Amino acid sequence: MSSAPVIGVLALQGDVPEHLRALADAGARPVPVRRPEEVHQLDGLVIPGGESTTLWRLSVAFDMLEPLRKLIASGLPAFGSCAGMIMLADRLADGVDGQQTFGGIDMTVRRNAFGRQVDSFESDVTLRTLAAAPWAGLGGYGRPMRAVFIRAPWVEQNGENVAVLGTEERTGRIVAVRQGPLLATAFHPELTPDRRIHELFVEIVKDNA
Ligand code: GLN
Repeated sequence: MSSAPVIGVLALQGDVPEHLRALADAGARPVPVRRPEEVHQLDGLVIPGGESTTLWRLSVAFDMLEPLRKLIASGLPAFGSCAGMIMLADRLADGVDGQQTFGGIDMTVRRNAFGRQVDSFESDVTLRTLAAAPWAGLGGYGRPMRAVFIRAPWVEQNGENVAVLGTEERTGRIVAVRQGPLLATAFHPELTPDRRIHELFVEIVKDNA
């Protein structure tokens, strides 16, 4: 793909403008999307942080739950941060009654996992380079990433096809994963100037085209 890929940012709730800016910095053409007719021409989709129970309810209200489930299941590249990670999980620990997700990543995610005392914190995340990954040649993945966690989830269990991309330094918990064209972080890379995660996602989207 030579031109900039078109990446939708799900604009039902959460930190949409920050993702739009980060995607533009990373070389994509970002567009906010909130209706089913807006999602069919996308090269990729970002699901922002916010509150997963609200994202779930609004997705149902805006008739977006089923269309996005199907698009993601059929191979649309997607990146979710925080509540967006929760929305990409096949299974939840500590979901509210009946809480649904788009799914796609074979993992169990625990909501609000880091506990009440540390509602919000900054920490270093060790990013792992996978030799076989198409983006391994991008370089620069050895350096830890300063990351913002806000009532963040962690990945409690991951299937064998889910690659661990990052762990939180203090707890060793899994906080960044990839399964094929799906990427998820428990933290908010859109809130810090380090653009490596958005650059990685744009690379994944280009490779998928
Ligand atoms: N705790 C929130 C949830 O369950 C996620 C918080 C966030 O996205 N910053 O959705």
